[in-house]
Amino acid sequence: MSVWESHRGRLARRRALERDDGRCLLCGNLATDVHHRIPRSLAPARKFDLDNLVSLCRWDHLWVENTPEESRPRGFLLHSWDDPAAIPVRSIFGVLMLTPYGTTQQITEGAQP
Ligand SMILES: [Zn+2]
Repeated sequence: MSVWESHRGRLARRRALERDDGRCLLCGNLATDVHHRIPRSLAPARKFDLDNLVSLCRWDHLWVENTPEESRPRGFLLHSWDDPAAIPVRSIFGVLMLTPYGTTQQITEGAQP
């Protein structure tokens, strides 16, 4: 990885943690990890996209990666062809849409078209 790439990686990680107030989106505890909703290996071009990044604690990061049948319906794990900005994250803080701009929109279930 180039110096530029690792700089971009650190910046994206910091912005994701700031957006999520440093909290794990699954349990609300302190976040230690930033997880790629579309695994990096499947979508290298999306690895710095903020809508593709979620803050997690180490425990829940392992849970997400080891129980795809549960983490996928909650929006924590996506397919390579998915658009992360269009798929909500069912977090402990509510149902959230993550934007590519590093912001979050809370959506009300049932009010969707
Ligand atoms: Zn957690």
